[in-house]
Amino acid sequence: MTMKTKGQHFLLSAKARTLSLKAVFTMGEDKAYDTFKGMRWPENDGEAICPRCGCLDTYNITTRKRFKCKACYHQFSVTSGTIFASRKMAYVDLLAAIVIFVNGAKGVAALQLSRDLDCQYKTAFILTHKLREAMAQEQEGRKLDGIVEMDGGYFGGYVKPENRKEDRKDRRLKSNRSGKRECVVIMRERNGKSLSFVVPNEGDAVPYVRDHVENLATIYADEGTGWDALHAGWDTKRVNHSVAFMDEGVCTNQAESYFSRLRRMEVGTHHHIAGPYLKHYAAEAVWREDHRRVDNGRQAAMVTEAAMRSNVSRKWARYWQRAA
Ligand SMILES: [Zn+2]
Repeated sequence: MTMKTKGQHFLLSAKARTLSLKAVFTMGEDKAYDTFKGMRWPENDGEAICPRCGCLDTYNITTRKRFKCKACYHQFSVTSGTIFASRKMAYVDLLAAIVIFVNGAKGVAALQLSRDLDCQYKTAFILTHKLREAMAQEQEGRKLDGIVEMDGGYFGGYVKPENRKEDRKDRRLKSNRSGKRECVVIMRERNGKSLSFVVPNEGDAVPYVRDHVENLATIYADEGTGWDALHAGWDTKRVNHSVAFMDEGVCTNQAESYFSRLRRMEVGTHHHIAGPYLKHYAAEAVWREDHRRVDNGRQAAMVTEAAMRSNVSRKWARYWQRAA
């Protein structure tokens, strides 16, 4: 195995700027494997580091794509301890899955991924959720400052209308709704980072805003009464959408474009994003909005790097074993 210089692995090369599936499959399993090593151990030029004791001296069990630490004898693979641990796919398929996932501007359905890669639906289902988890990691502990646009949108609690008018229920009544109706709140810095969270109603957002928006920030929100409480904590400007969408420079256009993406993900891809996974889809839409101008090869690198840094998620690890 030849030593490689830093940053030479495929996803960071100029060639990967526009990354096609064809390019991924042409590279083959060995080069895909090297790519994952480069992402896992960038500080050691893609050469293994023992995750248990930090030792750089390892035996390379090439046939099994595993390593054994010379100091503590711990055996591990490039994905041990990451969200890709207990993966069911070849490295080349895993990389292809990441490319398909980042290329899907409206998100990617697990069913489509399972068909594209000829893998089990459950494998694709867990993988898409893990990739969402990797995307969401970037938003942890995030603080917003400057001008912050804020808006809320409700998801879930749908009622399919009955065919005959006399059979239809009043969908405004809570008792007639199925599932939980929840509010996704989006906060977006002007030309900066974004953050999403899920609360029962817009008005419930204030404690979260307190934790994630700096005191000196200026908040732009619409006329919804849920936002009235913001005036007590921040310089808050309102735009009355029933009058105009831009009121002396105050607008929530960035928040609107976020919701248009999340709605497209819902209507065009997943059909149903409410319930326990709503916050993951909301975070995925944040990632896609924030990095929409980044070329897709770099996007694939960002998701892969994040995934290689993420500790194995207990929830999905258990799910994976159950699904096996
Ligand atoms: Zn060790």
